[in-house]
Amino acid sequence: MSVLSIQSHVVHGYVGNKAATFPLQLLGFDVDPLNTVQFSNHTGYPVFRGERLEGTQFQTLVEGLRLNGLLGAYSHVLTGYVGRPSSLEAICDLVEQLKQARPSTTIFVDPVMGDEGKLYVPSELLPIYRDKLLRLSHIVTPNSFEAELLTGAPVRTAERACEALRQIHALGPRVVIITSAELEGDPGRLHLFASISEGGSADGPPAPSVRGITISFAKRTGWFTGTGDLFAALMLAHLGSIGDLTFEGLAAGCEKAVWTMQQVLAKTAEAAAEEAASAERVGDGAAVARARELRIVQSRDLIMAPQRVASRALA
Ligand code: ADP
Ligand code: PLP
Ligand code: ZN
Repeated sequence: MSVLSIQSHVVHGYVGNKAATFPLQLLGFDVDPLNTVQFSNHTGYPVFRGERLEGTQFQTLVEGLRLNGLLGAYSHVLTGYVGRPSSLEAICDLVEQLKQARPSTTIFVDPVMGDEGKLYVPSELLPIYRDKLLRLSHIVTPNSFEAELLTGAPVRTAERACEALRQIHALGPRVVIITSAELEGDPGRLHLFASISEGGSADGPPAPSVRGITISFAKRTGWFTGTGDLFAALMLAHLGSIGDLTFEGLAAGCEKAVWTMQQVLAKTAEAAAEEAASAERVGDGAAVARARELRIVQSRDLIMAPQRVASRALA
């Protein structure tokens, strides 16, 4: 299995390809990282410096791969943080070509746009994800803010989350995972919602049925960056190829990915606690951000031997 992973690169820290590559390798995947940006550090630090890849630069890299016959080998394409509309358009063109050349390629799209009500990419990316890239994708992993952007309505109740899953299926993907949502009347907890549409046929009926699960877990206080990127990498590895994926496989994959995330965050919070507290006292924002970088390398044994949390089937 080999993954073309189109995400950000940071010199220091663990987001984007820095958060995804090593876990995927630990789980047995060859990874070809194509970096959409090269930043000094993630955008949650007081400052960051660096460059975003333009669409034409993306096309140049793809051309090099194509001329050497290297594009045909990917079992998966994974997309994450993209900083420019022209790059996202170029990604759509590439995905279209790869799907034609090798229809079994699994297209995994994390529509990274923002969090907690704030966009951290240009707003022009939203219609490209919603109307173009999702149509070409098999698996998508919006957080609740991104699910709200894609569907145009808040995701604050379980009923509304289920409706959002169905609305996002209608945009194209067979598997939709809302990675975490905070629900009204349930403070301090997060809920994942995931569903798979099964049974559709090109010739018409039977109509596809949607089956889903939900997983509830305690919300850790304090912010972490790169969680969505690590989560997407773990999900990709645990779901495998879309052609073989069943409802049971989706449930097991989510249960393992959530288990691993909770372990990595526990390790991160423990290691960060002392460092961050003293940095916060003196108001050193960069030191706080640095203290909260995901402890991915230190979690390698946990990543390779996932256990499972409990999930519940959605009615
Ligand atoms: P993103 O980073 O893209 O906004 P999420 O915040 O939903 O995505 O994080 C992805 C996964 O990481 C969640 O499904 C959850 O397992 C874990 N996670 C992230 N933040 C927290 C938190 N504060 N407490 C517990 N788990 C978290
Ligand atoms: N890549 C970069 C460069 C970022 O700055 C961020 C968030 O700040 C992300 C990716 C996405 O992080 P997350 O996985 O928390 O959505
Ligand atoms: Zn994210």
